[in-house]
Amino acid sequence: MKASRLEAIRELDRDYGIFYSLSDDESLESAEFHFSAKDNLTTVDHETTAGSRILSGYRPPFDAAPVESLRKAGGALLGKTSMDEFGFGTFSVNSAFALPRNPHDRERSCGGSSGGAACAAALIDGHIALGVSTGGSISCPAAFCGVVGFTPTYGRVSRHGLLDYGSSLDKVGMLSADCASIAERFPLIAGPDPRDPTSCGHPEHRERSAARSVGIPRQSLEGIPEEVMSVFNDAVETLRGDMGLEVIEVDMPLFRYAQPAYYIIATSEASTNLARYGGMRYGARGEDLDTHFDGYFRQVRSAGFGREAKRRILLGTFTRMVGYRDRYYVKALQVRQALIAEYRRAFASCDMLLAPTMPFVAPRFDEVEAMSLLETYLADHLTIPPNLAGMPHMSLPCGEIDGMPLGMQLTADHWHEDRLLKAGLEWERRFEYPVPEARA
Ligand code: GLN
Repeated sequence: MKASRLEAIRELDRDYGIFYSLSDDESLESAEFHFSAKDNLTTVDHETTAGSRILSGYRPPFDAAPVESLRKAGGALLGKTSMDEFGFGTFSVNSAFALPRNPHDRERSCGGSSGGAACAAALIDGHIALGVSTGGSISCPAAFCGVVGFTPTYGRVSRHGLLDYGSSLDKVGMLSADCASIAERFPLIAGPDPRDPTSCGHPEHRERSAARSVGIPRQSLEGIPEEVMSVFNDAVETLRGDMGLEVIEVDMPLFRYAQPAYYIIATSEASTNLARYGGMRYGARGEDLDTHFDGYFRQVRSAGFGREAKRRILLGTFTRMVGYRDRYYVKALQVRQALIAEYRRAFASCDMLLAPTMPFVAPRFDEVEAMSLLETYLADHLTIPPNLAGMPHMSLPCGEIDGMPLGMQLTADHWHEDRLLKAGLEWERRFEYPVPEARA
């Protein structure tokens, strides 16, 4: 990478709010490839804040496993990308720091929570962005920014060094301008790691036969606006006509319960995971040390957490409380198991599932502001089901509406990532992705 290239990236960063911290190491020039890490992945040479004031100044003593793997393979870390605080959000507006702006229209959101990662993938040539998804945080920004967003099976990539949101849901994945780059680099980060007991070595990431059929869950198309359906239907025609895939309709009635179950499980886990941030071990410190420790924690946590983080701590504490746990948390876990069984039934009749990724294109910031909390949570209804079930999925650009990209999401059965990547490679031989004007 030339020094002038780094300068060009710096300039883009000023205009688009991609990074919280950006490397100034000119020797990146000689690296095999460059990549970025979402700021909830630890890195020795950059602060790691997960977008939260409570972690300001935290410099971890180790690299997260996927960061370590990419460096070992010759990759150079360009910087840490902006995100919703701890992953809590859909539009990357819940952050204590930089606000990422959409590469196709700066007045619009990049999506979230890996907003900076999608922005980097769209604006920086040949870039691989490490993202993290709990309930759609890779697919959503990929769709809004017109890039490919790949989320593997839960357990495929080590979570060592990932600042947890919902530990039973979090997955590290990749975003890039094309699927070919992901197919090439993803094997570098896949595989078991003794430092993460939920990482899994079996079955191995390997070549599988290409998919021959896709199923479209009827329930996922309910309420999708006509303009989105028209672009989506054209894409389905290409899959059917040009790629020769059999397209069938499948029935997945449990989809409607995925979202409430997800928000209960995710917030329950988040509320325990965030208990460790109290201004003692990491990040921000409280000023008033002459107080009882309860008072100290209150001081640090009140000032350090943003509004959405506080809301989720309250909600998740409630759903785990004695007296409510069985009604909410345990029930939600049962829904998750039933949903996995429903996916199994669906995959008995087709190789992959397909739906639009998001029900609309990237909204303007004033539109995001006007949304109610419920509308914001409901925006995730297409990305949550595969995340809740731990299924690998991938968002591919599939068209545009008034110059803004639209994405479609393919989902495969557990451990069948290779099917998605193969289909993605076929797709991008036939479909030209949108390219933003500004690029470095
Ligand atoms: N928008 C969802 C949430 O706020 C998903 C975010 C994510 O995957 N981190 O929980």
